[in-house]
Amino acid sequence: MRFDIITIFPGFFAGIFEHGIVRRAQAEGLVSIGVHDLRNFTHDRHRTVDDRPFGGGEGMVLKPEPLAGALEALGVGTKVRDQKEPAHGNATPIVILLSAQGKPFTQAVARELAKVERVVLVCGRYEGVDERINELYCDMELSIGDYVLSGGELAAAVVVDTVMRLVPGVLGNEASGEFESFGVADTEIGTDEEGVPRSQHGSGGLLDYPQFTRPPEFRGLAAPQVLMNGDHQQIRRWRRRQQLRKTLRNRPDLLEQATLSDEDRRTLEELRNEGAK
Ligand code: SAM
Repeated sequence: MRFDIITIFPGFFAGIFEHGIVRRAQAEGLVSIGVHDLRNFTHDRHRTVDDRPFGGGEGMVLKPEPLAGALEALGVGTKVRDQKEPAHGNATPIVILLSAQGKPFTQAVARELAKVERVVLVCGRYEGVDERINELYCDMELSIGDYVLSGGELAAAVVVDTVMRLVPGVLGNEASGEFESFGVADTEIGTDEEGVPRSQHGSGGLLDYPQFTRPPEFRGLAAPQVLMNGDHQQIRRWRRRQQLRKTLRNRPDLLEQATLSDEDRRTLEELRNEGAK
């Protein structure tokens, strides 16, 4: 999978993709990332990328011509005329404008993007990007959360990191992307004959369960005994309960869309009655 990022601060990305899974995915040729300096697509002595907003108001706006030049150099055509030959491979890229005004970037969106061969990310700065770039070139406008960043670079890095780990082959265990917080609904979500949850992991739209490692006791707090007794049925039951507890406490909104078994619903009722702390 190929990511191209258009930014006025290419140096921002130095180092950010050189660690852990992202570094390995690139080294193994599963993912490649190109960072493009918007100023290389300016034609004046000062390499100007911004201008004052029409209608007045605070700040500056990224002007359209350099952005159009950068996108077209990457083979992105406007939606009103034919696409040019793409620069990397022959896949038509999905073009994303990072924006606080965008649709929420969620794990479900990441899963869809991971199926695409090429993604181009446009990082805004100042008061944002001339809207005609969005209208002419972008397939989607994405926000990474309900807050305002000073630029789209952090958001682009978040999108690249989240999407690339869902590209087949990037995570060691193929399934692990599904069995995390916000994972897809899976057929194992139900219970076995003994009523024990089959799924070991956070999935079906719930948050993941809490993790513990050695030492067994840390500053007076013991790790749950159930995780150390080797009884996998008990462990699965405990973990499912913890997922439900955490989701109820921190993200009750997720429960509306989650895939829940009858056992889950009973557990939730108990947790609600207990006050779920
Ligand atoms: N005036 C804009 C507004 O209120 O919506 C905010 C502009 S912000 C200071 C500059 C740039 O940061 C935006 O063009 C966008 O690329 C990026 N940005 C800010 N918040 C973001 C968010 N929550 N998600 C994605 N990108 C964001």
